Amino acid sequence: MKILFINKFLDKHTIYRTPLGILYLSAALKKAGHQVFICEPKREILAKKIKEIAPDIVAYSLRTGFHRYYLDLNRELKKRFQFLSVFGGPHATFFPEMIKEDGVDAVGLGECESSLVDLANRLERKKNYLETKNFWFKTDAGIVKNPLEKLEPDLDKILFPDRALLDSFKEVRLSRIHNLITSRGCPYNCSYCFNRQLKQMYPGEKYVRRRSVDNVIGEVKQIAEKYNLERVHFEDDTFNIDKDWLSEFAAKYPKIPFKCNIRGNLADEETARLLKKANCISVTFAIEAGNDRIRNKILQRNMTKEQIINCAWLLKKYRIRFITENILANPTSALSDDIETLDLNLICQPDYPTVSLLQPYPKTEIFKIALANNQFEKEDIDKIESFFKNSALKIPNKEERVNLQRLFAIVVAFPFLRRFIYFLIHRKRLTLFYGLLYSIWRPYCLVTKIMPHRLTPKEIFWLARRYLTD
Ligand code: SF4
Repeated sequence: MKILFINKFLDKHTIYRTPLGILYLSAALKKAGHQVFICEPKREILAKKIKEIAPDIVAYSLRTGFHRYYLDLNRELKKRFQFLSVFGGPHATFFPEMIKEDGVDAVGLGECESSLVDLANRLERKKNYLETKNFWFKTDAGIVKNPLEKLEPDLDKILFPDRALLDSFKEVRLSRIHNLITSRGCPYNCSYCFNRQLKQMYPGEKYVRRRSVDNVIGEVKQIAEKYNLERVHFEDDTFNIDKDWLSEFAAKYPKIPFKCNIRGNLADEETARLLKKANCISVTFAIEAGNDRIRNKILQRNMTKEQIINCAWLLKKYRIRFITENILANPTSALSDDIETLDLNLICQPDYPTVSLLQPYPKTEIFKIALANNQFEKEDIDKIESFFKNSALKIPNKEERVNLQRLFAIVVAFPFLRRFIYFLIHRKRLTLFYGLLYSIWRPYCLVTKIMPHRLTPKEIFWLARRYLTD
């Protein structure tokens, strides 16, 4: 079978974003003898590619907020070409009812490495593919819903992601930063995150799993042998979840500078020391909200202000750069709560604070909270905008909070601006200008402060081209 993935992985901020989920699927499919291709969703290139390879399956990995773009694209392609369209990823997992959309043939839920192989095998052998686990199918007789396959409890049994799939893209092949993931699942239950729902889909199963340190290092070495690996980005939700694992990792890891995500409430002196020993150069940790009620009752973070400040202090002490993550415009919050978040960041002094405006996705706990408080302007997920652009909620001082989101990182970098913050955010006619400042400041900080490396002339050219064409 020929499987074509359509995915946007070249990115104007990071040069490219490794689509690890697709690369894991590709490794499993290739091992089973199938041919796998990938293409960016640019219509003219895509049409040529589909004519050239005539794929049996066209597959998409969707995130909520970007799903409508791919559904529209797929509908156009289905009018011109013959293939089975398969949708997976977080959006398909939480909204499998998207199967009813025009042009959608199959939707895969959860982790699909072995079930997608099973689907391709059944199609190739002309067996009844409508019984493939994890998948919903649209048929003339209605929707067929199959049960979920059990999760693989031992992640070491899963093949390394097939990075060769992207080798024909020189921006990827020559990149000096590569992404990895060492775990699947998260034990926490933040109200705005789909993790809680995902966990509920697998009752009684081992949901939080981690690869062995040796397995992870095997992958790092494999990447280093083939590519120019100068920085590693570990994508795990919580890299510091297990101190014994971290201790073994710090002892064995080949000291290639890396970035990871940590939970502030799990950060202590020993954690910071181990991260430093392993050559961690930067971390991301979530503050989300400065106000205790918003952080713990509404966002359900289960974390104190003291733990957050302590985490920042330890990272400073061990000279590990850090990004904080913050959410403004939360349900039941006031502008003063968002200013409290700014003030907590001013205490923590991150190298860069990422700031978003809450987008309560349907089926999350926070969606129910917003609904109970009658705070929705748009309940239609198709109309939800990027969480860096606007809020979907009816909240007081909305325009001021949008301005605050644009100016937040600049105020944290230049704290003397704090005393002018109310004056600045009330200048509603400057929103576009603030947006421009934000779109320059953000990539500048990410490249120079968070994963600091000198850009080559080629990388500067690629980034400039992406900014002009995206
Ligand atoms: S810690 Fe992160 S991944 Fe885990 S539930 Fe909270 S937001 Fe989701």
